[in-house]
Amino acid sequence: MELKEWRRLSVQSVALFLVVLLCCICFAEQLQEDTRKIVCAEVNSTNEDADKAERTASDPEQTEEKTEKVKKKIVVIDAGHGGIDEGTISQNGKYLEKEYTLLVAKRLEKLLKEKGIIVYCTRTDDSYITKKERVKRAKQVKADLLISIHCNASNVGDTTSNGIETLYSKRKTNNVALTNKKLATIMLDGLEKETNLRKRGSIMRNKLYVLRHADMPATIIEIGYMSNAKDLNFIRKESGQQKIAQGICNGVVWALEES
Ligand SMILES: [Zn+2]
Repeated sequence: MELKEWRRLSVQSVALFLVVLLCCICFAEQLQEDTRKIVCAEVNSTNEDADKAERTASDPEQTEEKTEKVKKKIVVIDAGHGGIDEGTISQNGKYLEKEYTLLVAKRLEKLLKEKGIIVYCTRTDDSYITKKERVKRAKQVKADLLISIHCNASNVGDTTSNGIETLYSKRKTNNVALTNKKLATIMLDGLEKETNLRKRGSIMRNKLYVLRHADMPATIIEIGYMSNAKDLNFIRKESGQQKIAQGICNGVVWALEES
């Protein structure tokens, strides 16, 4: 073999070796990253599962203790809008938010009372009530929770946005065990389990009057989009309203158990 040929082969071998080495390093790093992701996902899901498992624990003694704990607690249900304040309107102009928030509120009131919870409503008919009065009412009765029910709507022309969300403020509550965020998260879980509507998330909104001025844990629950045909259909049906009320009721019970 000539010297020139020998050199060429040597350079090729070294280059090949380097390429193989590089591939091995990349593969090892990817493997490490994948393992890390799997471990994180497992840790996260284990935490969430533990939370959910705790909420559905069926130990009879524990259940009885928890049932007793929620009795006599005070919940204020706030049906959004009312009177001249119609809230959002469906795209065909036929359906008003204020009607559906009240229908759900009435069903929720019944379900909560069946659990032995003391319930007050900011409105029980189509009357107009200011936001200030709503908060004042909740403070007057020393509510443990303030649950405000609303329907969502997207910008004109957008009919695709859909799903449920809960809103909370970063304000401190008068209950050390239950932050507004925790309440909003629990309520969203309860509602999703019962309705199977798309879960959009729990969102911090610090400028909303009711959330900002209440002193007890409070959340606004957006039960779906009136601008979306599928959501609107669900909200309009009695079976849909019942599922929404049941989901909120379950969330209220979980929240009270944790407070
Ligand atoms: Zn509203």
